[in-house]
Amino acid sequence: MARYDQRSVKIVLANPRGFCAGVYMAIDVVDQLLDLCPGESIYVFHEIVHNRHVVERFKGRGVMFVESIADVPDRAIVVFSAHGVSPAIRAEAKAKHLATIDATCPLVTKVHAEAIRYARKGFQILLVGHRHHQEVVGTLGEAPHAIQIVESPRDIPSLRITNPDALVYLTQTTLSLDDATIVIDALKKAFPNIKDPPASDICYATTNRQMAVRAIAPTCDLVLVVGSANSSNSVRLTEISANVGTPARLIDDKSEIDPAWFEGVNTLLVTAGASAPEDLVHDLIETLVRKYGAEVEQHDIRQEDVEFGLPGTLKQMMRERGVDPAGRRIVRGDDGSRLHEWFESHGIPFRRVDMTLRGAAIAN
Ligand code: SF4
Repeated sequence: MARYDQRSVKIVLANPRGFCAGVYMAIDVVDQLLDLCPGESIYVFHEIVHNRHVVERFKGRGVMFVESIADVPDRAIVVFSAHGVSPAIRAEAKAKHLATIDATCPLVTKVHAEAIRYARKGFQILLVGHRHHQEVVGTLGEAPHAIQIVESPRDIPSLRITNPDALVYLTQTTLSLDDATIVIDALKKAFPNIKDPPASDICYATTNRQMAVRAIAPTCDLVLVVGSANSSNSVRLTEISANVGTPARLIDDKSEIDPAWFEGVNTLLVTAGASAPEDLVHDLIETLVRKYGAEVEQHDIRQEDVEFGLPGTLKQMMRERGVDPAGRRIVRGDDGSRLHEWFESHGIPFRRVDMTLRGAAIAN
């Protein structure tokens, strides 16, 4: 299939890329429900994960996405998305006797728990993150009296701090490590006694995908990030790339690529945000190989083996309906051999390069 009559581009695939453990779990929840409850309406509060294709595929299977609990009929099934919700949303759902399945990523839940704990201890909490992101809205809702949002160092002068010795910062899970460092350093300069969170709130998947881009992008002429514009961690990957001097484009899928981008490009890095399905990456590679002729190398920067179990409420529902809750429909993808098989079956030259970064192990 590959055409080598043209200038050949080298495509480097970043590993890790794409789905994280929280996204696998959240997508699995909705997928399981569709099978478990045939004929019943399934509602999801907000996009289950921030990816246009994932949402459209579920809409095609009858799932209804709502932005308000008021839009869910009483006693219906509703899934809370991976980004988490505030206690006020939980209370609304309870008042309507909804059957709620909470697909919040456990690493988001961890930040909620930290917020609750510090607020109870009388701390003021500075939450570093994007004010309107659903995750931040949800965390804020856990202790609105104690939390102030900090988006950038410019927000620091307007913070209302009553006791600088009882101050902690927490962060959104999907921030840019570079940007978060700038904000946290500024907070520490302004409030030397501010406490760090018990462990970094920026999750392992965000960290690892950014580390891969930081390590590989400097050797490339262009970076393509597969992901949606409202996916925080996908947008952050383009920013990390720009920070190391390599231009980056965020695309939902192969239909958005522009041939003009590839002029003078000899080496191209392809990665994907934590909510972007791997089949979109494969489609993109196939298209690029057909157009430009290319060899593909996957650079393995870090291996991930994090998995999250299904929510207890879903497991309970599965048991009640005679389904083994141990069975997973959506499982962690590439074990290496399947990737090789895919490339082989498409006639695309492919090899893996072990560039594993050791030390500073990342596992939330
Ligand atoms: S990006 Fe991180 S916090 Fe968000 S769902 Fe994935 S693992 Fe969880």
